[in-house]
Amino acid sequence: MSTIISQLQLPGKQAPKLNALPPLSLYIHIPWCLKKCPYCDFNSHAVRTGIDIDEKAYVSALIRDLESTLPHVWGRRLISIFFGGGTPSLFSAATIDTLLTAIKTLFPLEPGAEVTLEANPGTFEAEKFAAYRDAGINRLSIGIQSFNSDHLRSLGRSHDGQDAIKAIEIAQKNFDNINLDLMYALPGQNINDAGNDIKTACAFGVSHLSVYHLTLEPNTLFYRFPPVLPSDEQSAAMQEMIEQTLTSHQYLHYETSAFSQRGRVAQHNMNYWLFGDYLGIGAGAHSKISFETQIMRQMRYKQPQEYIEKAALAGAGSETTVQSRQTLSNNDRCFEFMMNALRLTGGFESALFQERTGLPISIVMPQLDEAEQRCLITRDHRHIRPTHLGKRFLNDLLQLFLSDSLEYSPKSTGNGKA
Ligand code: SF4
Repeated sequence: MSTIISQLQLPGKQAPKLNALPPLSLYIHIPWCLKKCPYCDFNSHAVRTGIDIDEKAYVSALIRDLESTLPHVWGRRLISIFFGGGTPSLFSAATIDTLLTAIKTLFPLEPGAEVTLEANPGTFEAEKFAAYRDAGINRLSIGIQSFNSDHLRSLGRSHDGQDAIKAIEIAQKNFDNINLDLMYALPGQNINDAGNDIKTACAFGVSHLSVYHLTLEPNTLFYRFPPVLPSDEQSAAMQEMIEQTLTSHQYLHYETSAFSQRGRVAQHNMNYWLFGDYLGIGAGAHSKISFETQIMRQMRYKQPQEYIEKAALAGAGSETTVQSRQTLSNNDRCFEFMMNALRLTGGFESALFQERTGLPISIVMPQLDEAEQRCLITRDHRHIRPTHLGKRFLNDLLQLFLSDSLEYSPKSTGNGKA
């Protein structure tokens, strides 16, 4: 591989400039779960027995945090809102209502903006679905993972196959825009089991499916004590079968793990993948905010209690909840744009690169040439798309755009399951 990007400079060393700011989304992180799943590396904390979550204190912290960050995004409209976690459905509908009311007071919302809440399929959560809809949620994302109770047990999940089915039925009575999260290559799973999960999901005809390969992430129990998993060949066969089954059920495979019915792509996630802006509030949430001459990343304090304490000190523009911030270099802009946009099976319009990074596409021409020579992308005068090979070997494709000053991380936003 010859073309690792060295420090990119614009002619005359001028700073890159954005002609217009990208669309803005809001992410709200709820960092608690009933228990910690052994494969999970998200910023989620098991609720300790006998200790209730202080919803009130956390909501006050979120609202203070949002108010303090307003000067950075003044006057901008939100195109989507996403409550992720953790398990946001542990919170009451009244709490979600309070938050949405505060958000709408502080931000103008695009008409028809997508407002998603992640929910687990336990009975306790499903009973609240109607109330979430009344609070203003218009899209539900349910963490089904599998319909097979044995596999759910092996994943350490609190629900079983029947709970999963019941939760989808209740969700469909209240929402017409539903995502189901599923996983494959599970301990003890064979291709028939994976096929049964996908066919069961298809039978519900929900608008969106996100299907993830189980991976063993560092800092998880599964990483320390790995279960026996299907081989790489078996996993690849499952992936092929899943893509074919979903295509035959008219789902559009539009991103590495995302499948949607016509017109139902996830607006919030699309904004991540098209290198839009997002403001992330809540413990450990990540933000990416663009200004005319800089693009800034931030991460909030990760421990919920510390986050609440820091938020209590916040004032307009002071952002005491921010633990780390970074201004993106030209290299970062290039790599992060590609890391997101090349996940889209349809690729992106070449003009978008300059629109979102402020850099001319000519700056990555040697890398694009090499990617094309290696049959990892195709391009014409308007579009750049990953090929079938490029999608299969996405990491190899992205390595071409990796600067020697960056550490590669396949997670695009840091905010949950995008
Ligand atoms: S996988 Fe989901 S439910 Fe399990 S611990 Fe992680 S965030 Fe919580």
